[in-house]
This record gives sequence, C-alpha cells and structure tokens, in this order.
Amino acid sequence: MNDLYLRGVGMTSRRTRERLIERLVEKGIDNIRVLEVMRALPRHIFVDEAMAHRAYEDTALPIGHGQTLSQPYIVARMTELLLESATSMERVLEIGTGSGYQTAVLSPFCRTLYSVERIAPLQDKARQRLKTLGVNNVILKHADGNWGWPARGPFNAILSAAAPHEIPQQLIDQLAPGGVLLTPVGGDEQSLARVIRDAETDEIVIDQIEPVKFVPLLGGVIQ
Ligand code: SAH
Repeated sequence: MNDLYLRGVGMTSRRTRERLIERLVEKGIDNIRVLEVMRALPRHIFVDEAMAHRAYEDTALPIGHGQTLSQPYIVARMTELLLESATSMERVLEIGTGSGYQTAVLSPFCRTLYSVERIAPLQDKARQRLKTLGVNNVILKHADGNWGWPARGPFNAILSAAAPHEIPQQLIDQLAPGGVLLTPVGGDEQSLARVIRDAETDEIVIDQIEPVKFVPLLGGVIQ
C-alpha cells in the first residue's frame, strides 16, 4: 500500500473523514478521545479498493466471507461505553477481529489488546493492516472466540463484534474483578448487553443498552 493511498484522496480524503466524525457527534458520540482516534484512522484501508469510496459512510460494509466491517457509529459507541464502564484497560479481549477496524480504534486505549478471529484469511488481512498502521500492542489469534482466551485472561474488558444467542458463560468467567463485557446478544432481534463483574462483591450485573444488528457469533474455525 502506498503512502498516498494510506493518506486518502477524494472520497477517502481527510475532509470526507471529518464529515463522518460530525455525523457521529450528531448521533450522540461525545467521547473526545474516541472521536480523535477515529478522525485520524483511515477506514478505507480496511475494505477492498472497490469499496473504498464508501468507507466514510456511517454504514457496515462487506469484507468477504459473508462478514462485515462494523458501522462506525457502533464502533464508536462500543468503544466509548467500554471506556466508561471499565475500571482498567490493561488486558482487553476482542472477539471477531474481522477487518481489524474496531481493533485499531480500541488499541490506543489498551495496554494489551488480544483479538480472536475464526476466519483465517480475514485475520491475515487484519494483521497486515495493523502492521501498516504501526499498531504494536495487539496480539491476534485464529480461534473460536466462544471460548474467550483463558490462557491470557482474566480480562479487564471484553468486546464482541459478533452476536451469540446467549452470553457465553466462558466470557463472563474470564472477566477480572471490575471487568466489563460488551456484546450484542440475540438472533433476528439483538440488543447490546453490558455485563459487569462487581469489583467488591463479585456479583454479575447485566444491563441492555440499545438495539443493534451484528453478524452471528458462529462456532469452530475456518482455515
Ligand atoms: N469489528 C469487526 C467486525 C467484523 S464482523 C470489523 O469492524 O471489521 C464480526 C467478525 O466476528 C467476523 O469477522 C466473524 O468471522 C467473527 N466471528 C464470528 N464468530 C466468531 C467466533 N466464534 N470466534 C471468533 N470470531 C468470530
């Protein structure tokens, strides 16, 4: 990828990017740090070149293998919610690396970000993009995220970009005291669930944030 492509021109220029940030603010995103990170990040490098001109629309975009790059609004919303709710961002787990866009948005806020993806070719591309951007605190694994990543846990924060029918107990088990899990949950109708492990009582508190639409959390891995 050359420098000019990375910087963006026309429909991928800085000005186009700025309009996306304005739209996010209109939709209620108010965490300045999240907006700054998204303003600086070229979203067009996370999709195929043919799709690049649509990269700064506030929509999900196809990334192949029946998967999508998440809508910027939901990436921003989940990131800001995670930052509001977590007591530490020392060890963070992401389920569903996909294109790597959410990974890149989240990484500056984490000490170490662990990210799991079940489709190997998507992971390979995400790895390349993160390298191009100089992101160096992310550890990727090709695995089924239903199981979390017990060897690297417990986690202060877990974010899932794919929707299980029910919140996997394994993920709840891998929350550190004070830890927070954000995950879409459901089938045709989904909502964004926030699970918090109370730091003192160890009690698990779940609340539903807002309706969302994500691809399903599937099982097993694809080479
Ligand atoms: N945040 C990503 C979203 C990708 S879509 C982005 O913005 O690009 C969700 C991703 O979750 C897909 O790449 C899909 O392959 C992955 N996924 C679904 N089920 C999974 C599972 N059990 N383990 C790991 N990844 C999974």
